[in-house]
Amino acid sequence: MTFTRSWELKMLNARKTGLVFMESFIKVIAVFSLKKGLGSLRLTQKASLYASHQHLLGILGTKGRIVKYYDVIIVGAGIIGLASARSLKSKQPNLKILVCEKESEAGQHASGRNSGVLHAGFYYSPESMKAQFCRDGNIQLREFIRSRGIALVETGKVVVTKSEQEEKRLEALYERGITNGVKLELLPANQLEKFEPLARTTNTFLWSPTTAVSDPKSVTRALVEDLVSHGVEFNFSTTITEAQKGRAFLNGEIIRYGHLLNAAGSQADRIAHQFGVGMQYTMLPFIGLYRYVEKTRFPLRTLVYPVPHPLNPFLGVHFTVTHDGLVKIGPTAIPIVGREQYKLLSNPKFGDVKSTIRAAISLITGTKHNVRQIVASEFPKYSSRFLVRESSKLVPAAQAIKGWGVKPPGIRSQLVNLKTGELVQDFLIEKGEKSTHILNAVSPGWTSAFAFGGHVADQALLDL
Ligand SMILES: Cc1cc2nc3c(=O)[nH]c(=O)nc-3n(C[C@H](O)[C@H](O)[C@H](O)COP(=O)(O)OP(=O)(O)OC[C@H]3O[C@@H](n4cnc5c(N)ncnc54)[C@H](O)[C@@H]3O)c2cc1C
Repeated sequence: MTFTRSWELKMLNARKTGLVFMESFIKVIAVFSLKKGLGSLRLTQKASLYASHQHLLGILGTKGRIVKYYDVIIVGAGIIGLASARSLKSKQPNLKILVCEKESEAGQHASGRNSGVLHAGFYYSPESMKAQFCRDGNIQLREFIRSRGIALVETGKVVVTKSEQEEKRLEALYERGITNGVKLELLPANQLEKFEPLARTTNTFLWSPTTAVSDPKSVTRALVEDLVSHGVEFNFSTTITEAQKGRAFLNGEIIRYGHLLNAAGSQADRIAHQFGVGMQYTMLPFIGLYRYVEKTRFPLRTLVYPVPHPLNPFLGVHFTVTHDGLVKIGPTAIPIVGREQYKLLSNPKFGDVKSTIRAAISLITGTKHNVRQIVASEFPKYSSRFLVRESSKLVPAAQAIKGWGVKPPGIRSQLVNLKTGELVQDFLIEKGEKSTHILNAVSPGWTSAFAFGGHVADQALLDL
C-alpha cells in the first residue's frame, strides 16, 4: 500500500479546498498502519506530513509520541527573532509560529543590554545589508516606538575628530552616508557649539539628525505583547538543543516544523552547525562595559562619537544620552572568553573556551586585523579612569566628573571566518534544510531589526 504521485496531488488539492474529512482519513490511515504494522513507515511519514501541513496539533509521530506542529519555529526571543515573527505574521496571518527562548524573559542578552541608539546608517559600505537595513530599520523602529508610546529622544549625533589625521576619514564617512541615502551634514568646527557645546573637534564634524535613543527593554516587551495578541506562542525557559530535518527537540518533546528560523544571537553558529550550515564560522565575544552619571550633573545634549578606527569593527567608545536621563560612556570592545560571561571572574563554559581559542588563533594567524592593536587599545578600558580619560578627548568636561557608576555590560559576539581569519563585517544569513540562520546580528542589529526581520521572513516563506 503506497501513495502514488497523483494520489499525493489529490491529497494536496483536497487540503487546499479544505475538505476536513480528508484530514481525518489521513490520520486513521496513519494510526492504523502504525498499530497493525501495515504498509511502510513512509506511509505514516507522508500521512503525518500532510496532516501537519493542516496545522494539526497532537498528531502521531513516527515513534508514536505525541508531537506538535508549527509552520515556523523561531529560536531566540531577541529583537531579531521577535521582529521576524512580526513580519511573518503580517505577511501570513494564519501561520502557526512558536518562539523558543532559553531565558525566562525576552531580550535578556544583546537586545536588552545595548546602547539603545537608533543609528542613521552612514557607517556601513553601501552594498551591505547593514547599510540598507539600518537606514530602513531606523524609520520602521521609530514608527513602532511612537505607536506604542515608548520613550524616543531625538538627540541627533555629532561625530568629531581627535586629530588632523582623522579629518580625511570623517570626510569619507560623510560621502558614504550620502551614498547610503542618509541625512547628514559635514560642518566646520565653529558650528559645533550650536549642536553640542561640550564637545570638541579639530576642523570639521558630522551632524546626524536622524540618530535617536530609546529604551530597548520597552521595545522588546511591546513586541512580545503584540505577538501574543496575534497568536504567536512563546516557550520561555526552553533551550533548543537539537534540531534538524523538520524536527526540534525541546524539553524532552519532539516538535515538528515547516521552517526553523535560527535567531539565537551569540549561539546562532551552534544551531547552524547542526544543519551543516556555516561550518567555517564561530563566534568571538567582546564585552561592552559602560560608565554613567546623571544628566543633571553632566548636561550633554546630543550623542558624541569618535571617527571609527579602520581596523576595528566597532564604533569606538562614545557618549550616549539615555532615554531616562543618564549620560553613558561606552561600550568597550574587550575580548572575553564566555559568550554570556557578564561577570569577568565567573567561569566560562568549556564549549565557549574552545570556540574562543579557535577564533582567536584564526584572527592572530590571519592578516586581516591588527589583533595586537585591538588588545592594546581595549584592555586598558577595564579601568574606569582610563575610559574617562580617553573619552574626554571628545568631551573634555567628562574628566572633571567624579563618581561614574557602572551599568550592566553587554556582550557583542562577532562572527569569525576561520578560513580567512577575518571578523565578518556584514550581517550574514545562510539557508539550510527547512531553515534560515542569522549568523552575525551585530550592531546595528537593534536599529535594523524590522527591516532585517522583513527580509528574513521573505526567506523563510520561500520554503513554506
Ligand atoms: C554592548 C552592545 C551595544 C550595542 N548597541 C547597539 C545600539 O546602540 N544600536 C544598535 O542598533 N545595536 C546595538 N547593538 C547590537 C544589538 O544589540 C544586536 O545586534 C541585537 O540585539 C541582536 O539581536 P538578536 O536577537 O540577534 O540577539 P539576542 O538579543 O542575543 O537574542 C538571541 C536570543 O536567543 C536566545 N537563545 C540562544 N540560544 C538558544 C537556544 N539554543 N534555545 C533557545 N533560545 C536561545 C538567547 O537567550 C537570546 O535571548 C549593541 C550590542 C551590544 C552587545
